[in-house]
Amino acid sequence: MDSQLSNGEDYKYIMATSIGSGKGIEVLPDLYCHTIQIVNIVLVGHPNSKDFVLIDTGMPYSAEKILAVVEERFGVDSRPKAIILTHGHFDHVGAVIELVKHWDVPVYAHELELPFLTGVSSYPDPDTSVEGGMIAKMSSIFPTDPVQLGSHIKSLPSDGSVPFLPEFKWIHTPGHSPGHVSFFREKDGALIAGDAFVTVKQEYLYKVFTQEQEISGPPRYLTTDWDAALESVIKLEALQPTVAITGHGLPMERELLANSLKKLVNEFEHIAIPDYGKFVDKDTD
Ligand SMILES: [Zn+2]
Ligand SMILES: [Zn+2]
Repeated sequence: MDSQLSNGEDYKYIMATSIGSGKGIEVLPDLYCHTIQIVNIVLVGHPNSKDFVLIDTGMPYSAEKILAVVEERFGVDSRPKAIILTHGHFDHVGAVIELVKHWDVPVYAHELELPFLTGVSSYPDPDTSVEGGMIAKMSSIFPTDPVQLGSHIKSLPSDGSVPFLPEFKWIHTPGHSPGHVSFFREKDGALIAGDAFVTVKQEYLYKVFTQEQEISGPPRYLTTDWDAALESVIKLEALQPTVAITGHGLPMERELLANSLKKLVNEFEHIAIPDYGKFVDKDTD
């Protein structure tokens, strides 16, 4: 069965880091965010239980680091009930193949993301011409070929429930990618946003390195549908989350989060949408 499992042909190590790399933050007792170079993974579950789920799988060649993080929090030889993906970009599926081989657990994603996770479709090439800094410019080296998860990948249930996380609902938040999802827990307002919005200007090497906290739309170089991206941010803001873990940047909470999300919705064109780039056409509206 494992012969079905493979990384994309352009799988490679990407040299990029931040001061947050290798660090973890316990956002809530059962919500742990850990930064792999420049992207976050989330462990949902109480550390004294064996009941937990891994959301997203970091950068290429980070499986060993993720295994160490999981063992430190949940004990030696612990493994999650499942891996759940916000979307299939290279920096969120970097270790998924190795981890599935190691743990033999199911992986869940939105059905519209499955072509990118079953070797069928590549993502469009990142937009190196987009308005933004060094990371946007270097994005041509980012892998876009699909991973092949074979029979390990499953669609999220259509009723909005999240496998093994009964208190969470998944929310379709497309724009950054067609099958992008976020996860929300009503009882305490915890949001795992993926790349629907992020708290760092991900296009800029310096800001990524320092992790300077600043509300931002989805990373520009990979976002293909800006109308949908705005609708998704409106949807998330309406939930009034109290804390958000985003795919990139530090977790944000309470008033800062509420005010920042409101600002992002109201000034989306200015804050999020690039002035130029191949996925925007502001002049022909
Ligand atoms: Zn992404
Ligand atoms: Zn990302």
